[in-house]
Amino acid sequence: SALLSESLAASPEQILHDVFGYARFRGPQEGIVHHVTAGGDALVLMPTGGGKSLCYQIPAIARHRSGKGVTVVVSPLIALMHDQVGALHEAGVSAAFLNSTLDWEETQDVERRMLRGEITLLYAAPERVTTPRFLSQLDSLHERGKLSLFAIDEAHCVSQWGHDFRPEYRALTVLHERYAGVPRIALTATADALTRADIVERLQLEEARQFVSSFDRPNIRYTIVEKKDATTQLLRFIEREHEGDAGVVYCQSRKRVEDLAQSLCDAGLNALPYHAGLDAAVRQKNQDRFLREEGIVMVATIAFGMGIDKPDVRFVAHVDMPKNIEGYYQETGRGGRDGEPADAWMAYGLQDVVNQRRMIDESPAGEEFKQVMRGKLDALLSLAEASDCRRVRLLGYFGEKSTPCGNCDNCISPPQVWDGTDAARKLLSTIYRVQQQSGISFGAGHVMDILRGKATEKVKQYGHERISTFGIGSEFSEPQLRGVLRQLIATGALAVDAQAFNTLQLTEGSRSVLRGETQVMLRESVSQPAERKKREKT
Ligand code: ADP
Ligand code: ZN
Repeated sequence: SALLSESLAASPEQILHDVFGYARFRGPQEGIVHHVTAGGDALVLMPTGGGKSLCYQIPAIARHRSGKGVTVVVSPLIALMHDQVGALHEAGVSAAFLNSTLDWEETQDVERRMLRGEITLLYAAPERVTTPRFLSQLDSLHERGKLSLFAIDEAHCVSQWGHDFRPEYRALTVLHERYAGVPRIALTATADALTRADIVERLQLEEARQFVSSFDRPNIRYTIVEKKDATTQLLRFIEREHEGDAGVVYCQSRKRVEDLAQSLCDAGLNALPYHAGLDAAVRQKNQDRFLREEGIVMVATIAFGMGIDKPDVRFVAHVDMPKNIEGYYQETGRGGRDGEPADAWMAYGLQDVVNQRRMIDESPAGEEFKQVMRGKLDALLSLAEASDCRRVRLLGYFGEKSTPCGNCDNCISPPQVWDGTDAARKLLSTIYRVQQQSGISFGAGHVMDILRGKATEKVKQYGHERISTFGIGSEFSEPQLRGVLRQLIATGALAVDAQAFNTLQLTEGSRSVLRGETQVMLRESVSQPAERKKREKT
């Protein structure tokens, strides 16, 4: 039988061609496939659509043909398991899955075939893989030398710093401890430096070779606009650029999903809602329609998208800001998987900053965790406030150096920047003086009223019209000051206290702005005072 398996053994190139029908490997696939087929451990970071599946499927087939037995694929998503197993069957590869959709008899049947070594790739959910029953079956395979390879898909799920932490992934260390000689390949489409280090540590991949692809998605055009009326802005964007196209619109809350889906429908678009609070049947129906019909706009929370492989999504819009760059990258990455041009469009405003900061502050997590989350949020905020190439910053966040892309809003029409340092100093000193005078802090609206010299009831009630900065910022409009505040908060030069009615608080970072050591540069969208006056006259 050794001779028989020798004769059946095929090179990875042959398998790529004969089984999958592809002429050549794409990018780093070749190196990964050879390394893993030869029994090496690997950590693969490759963007969505890059072709991760073949990186373990071809080694699995090659190793099975040379008598090494079964590859176990750990995957968190039932829908994805079904798709992959279906596609492998069509290619003539023996594959199966074990998950909650099988009944007892079907489960036993799969297990029997696995134990006989008939299955090349077995897909299983992480919680299944680590059960005593399954582990004893793996023991049996291992004793007979028929446990070939472990592939751990969506490996970022092991990290609590990632955006999709799944505690079941933690238990996967047992694979390494129990079957030390069996090679392992872990794969993910998203991991910044911190998440990457966490994957290596948690899955004990210190010895694994790392294959890091470029995370660039050159066909995606990134645009981030200042939020005014998100619904109207979104409608205008879709009408202007994506009439009749399929797209996904991400919102922060279920209520917002429902309202926005309704507004889009009222405007004549083919929009459907999707969030975890909807009936499972409704969710399934909406998802199916999105996949099958043309030109559906899915309005969704982040519950939608993972494992949904629709190649011709032409735009991904965010009407609320996500938590961090990993989330943003993952969600926008669902556009343009076919390689054709696609838009990543986001509307972002002061309220987003305040909301995200508040969510972190109010979460029950420990202080260390909150600090990490704040750092990740800050990175996203600086991407949103940037007036240089978005792609350079995005890729830079994943540790990749690049040059201006020519395919983002800032490259296509470089924003005018104006010096908002004066406005920033006036705002900060107003906040300081109000705090000194009244012993309590106030919110953005009140502070702006004082600076612009509006003697409202509240201003008079506290005697704030007597503060020395009252009216010294009358040349600034409210939107301009909001822009300045947003950037001060985004850069940490000002804090919002969610526990105290969203009042503004000075920080360590306020000092250098107050002293004039830090410049505050603002994008043109927050137009300069002079320009604004000119426009008002005409
Ligand atoms: P990922 O899991 O990284 O998002 P997939 O493994 O689903 O990506 O692959 C994305 C698409 O690219 C699939 O349609 C796949 O068949 C195709 N593909 C992968 N590798 C190749 C290749 N070497 N040549 C041609 N097409 C490929
Ligand atoms: Zn650019």
